[in-house]
Amino acid sequence: MKKLLYFIPAIFLITACNKKIDSANTNEDSLLPKPGNVILLIGDGMGLTQITAGLYSNNNSLNLEAFEHIGLHKSYASNKLITDSAAGATAFACGVKTYNGAIGVDPDTIPVKTLLEMAEDQKMPTGIVATSTITHATPGSFVAHQPNRKMQEAIAEDFLTSNVDLFIGGGMKYFTAREKDDRNIADELETKGYQVESFFDVELEDISIDPSKNFGYFTANDSPLPVASGRNYLRPATDLALEFLSNRSNGKGFFLMIEGSQIDWGGHANDSDYIISEMIEFDKVIGQVLEFAKADGNTLVVVTADHETGGYAINPGSEMGAINGAFTSDYHTAALIPVFAYGPGAELFSGIYENTQIHDIIKALKRFQ
Ligand code: MG
Ligand code: ZN
Repeated sequence: MKKLLYFIPAIFLITACNKKIDSANTNEDSLLPKPGNVILLIGDGMGLTQITAGLYSNNNSLNLEAFEHIGLHKSYASNKLITDSAAGATAFACGVKTYNGAIGVDPDTIPVKTLLEMAEDQKMPTGIVATSTITHATPGSFVAHQPNRKMQEAIAEDFLTSNVDLFIGGGMKYFTAREKDDRNIADELETKGYQVESFFDVELEDISIDPSKNFGYFTANDSPLPVASGRNYLRPATDLALEFLSNRSNGKGFFLMIEGSQIDWGGHANDSDYIISEMIEFDKVIGQVLEFAKADGNTLVVVTADHETGGYAINPGSEMGAINGAFTSDYHTAALIPVFAYGPGAELFSGIYENTQIHDIIKALKRFQ
């Protein structure tokens, strides 16, 4: 019975997405489930082999195994078969295939509204957490609109207009020690009503949060360390984000994007151990989020990657707990990318579809405009 109930709205949804009908104009979408919170977890560069290597290096166990609804997306960009993280994240955030390097803009560099901005329009609290600079391509594509990912100082300026409720990541220098001007964007955010903290003043766990303010936190290093070198903030940041956003969701639900940024960096470095340690930490965060979602009962969790990195393979000679990794590239590859979904509407993420469909389904489920 449950399957049938979802099958009918799924047909309407796919029709709506294909015709690019505004979800507000369809009566059929009243049949769709309506999740409260939406949590999108992006493992940058996390292809199937990265997941497999993490699994077999973690006692043959990952939290990802708890997901029942799994699909595959086509990650290609508008101008290249092999996407970068900017075009990949913009596809999730904005629902457009765009060129490599684009941050929240279409192939003509025109800004396109992001899921985070649509959530803000509905007065939902929003958050982004990353293990890179917070102005990096993946988080940047949810809050900013810039023609090139390298413009991290301009991406930092866009935080002033995003109204994002919570952000945690590296890259403080793009806010406070800028090359292009003498502005202090962290001070400007505080003037706008943000509580902005940094590792230099206080450890994340020791902060007393002012719940009346939006919250930003900069990590110790502009480019955060690998987890194997001592980075330890992603799990407490996830707990903090879930609690902070829940407390201000007012029954509307929140939108949160969490990125495991450095699975990709392990791939670029052709470093199997780097990939595995980042993958296992990211999976622990997935476990925290799943536990939250199960307790909440109305949270949609979507886990995916923007692309695979490294052409990573598990070669002969590997054993359980001892991966003999090999690589075909120090860049990204074009392999189909897995999508894992849990919660109301999760069924809709089954199948093979364009990366932009992840945006389209979340938009339809949340009745975003
Ligand atoms: Mg990234
Ligand atoms: Zn990359």
